[in-house]
Amino acid sequence: MGLIVQKFGGTSVKDRNRIFNVARIVANTRKAGNDVVVVVSAQGDTTDDLIAKAAEISSNPSDREMDMLLSTGEQISIALLTMALQELGISAISLTGWQAGFATDRSYTKARIKRINTERLESELARNRVVVVAGFQGLNRSDDITTLGRGGSDTSAVALAAALHADRCQIFTDVEGVYTADPRKLPKATKLKEITFDEMLELASLGAQVLNNRSVELAKKYGVELEVISSLNPVPGTIVKEETKVEGMLIKGVAKDENVAVISIMEVPDVPGMSFKVFSLLAQRNINVDIILQSSGRDNSKDLIFTVPLTEAQTALSVLNENKNRFGGGDIKVSTDYAKVSIVGAGMQSHSGVASSMFEALFNQGINIHMISTSEIKISVIIDKTDADRAVAAIHDAFIH
Ligand code: ASP
Ligand code: MG
Repeated sequence: MGLIVQKFGGTSVKDRNRIFNVARIVANTRKAGNDVVVVVSAQGDTTDDLIAKAAEISSNPSDREMDMLLSTGEQISIALLTMALQELGISAISLTGWQAGFATDRSYTKARIKRINTERLESELARNRVVVVAGFQGLNRSDDITTLGRGGSDTSAVALAAALHADRCQIFTDVEGVYTADPRKLPKATKLKEITFDEMLELASLGAQVLNNRSVELAKKYGVELEVISSLNPVPGTIVKEETKVEGMLIKGVAKDENVAVISIMEVPDVPGMSFKVFSLLAQRNINVDIILQSSGRDNSKDLIFTVPLTEAQTALSVLNENKNRFGGGDIKVSTDYAKVSIVGAGMQSHSGVASSMFEALFNQGINIHMISTSEIKISVIIDKTDADRAVAAIHDAFIH
């Protein structure tokens, strides 16, 4: 018994039946004697549909109005879910993000939570109500509505769990937990009992798409243990926490990310400061550079090759072309036919030979590696997009039994 935060994603509340399914889960948690705060996302594809509606009006709508528009999706969900709870005889009330005290910074469409004033929430809990809070939204200092970026409801839930010192934070979704690979692509992928925050952060950024990245960062920062579970199938999910038992599982997951573009700047003068000039241009535009390769110098020039998110490739290319005179350089090429495949596992810190096993698995499939990068708990390779699924399967076979 205690205070439990339960978050339900868009697919979990997409229609009448799913809403009642969620209401039953919440009602059971309540009847077991817990205080419950529920965080919900917009129903099904609502957010995408709203974005499409905006596009019918303007090719460049203002960020403030986008947030005004997108925040409506969550408002529908909280009202409907609260009605369903009341139908089941549960005392409940819905609160928008601002009613629930979410204060954010100014940046529309990707706001950060600054603080949560939990007074109203706590007084509703004290009245023995289940509180249903709209995820993804808050209010900035000018009292304007902000949203937290796509998938931001996870972050709302974790932030609430931290602010309320909740005993548990459950993230309900349409999958049963975190898997060793995308189970839709690789049916033999297995569900993990537990995973560390650091591993989850790597997997989230590698495209495993179970939890929003910032929510995991926040959970790590405030020590909020997360439970990722299915809203449709009541089986144990995956626990995400600071440290997990080392049970001989060297690799926790294999992830594929197709959101990569490779940019090559040929024949950059081989003198000090060139990398600084190139990458500071990208940093100024908040473009995340991931893997960097620099060829060894020849004829007083070198090639700089690096990856950026596919979604930012065009911006990167125009910034570089506009400022080409600053760093010299010849042709700038962008290639989008690549994918990044990565293995993640805290266990590799204390084991040798992990990289060579990964490369062997690729070699056995005749898959060519274009770029490699490693960190303490991750190894990534850039390969042809057309090889990616085969690569994931082969690497998975090599490490996970
Ligand atoms: N509805 C928002 C989105 O689709 C927030 C969320 O689902 O977490 O991105
Ligand atoms: Mg959503």
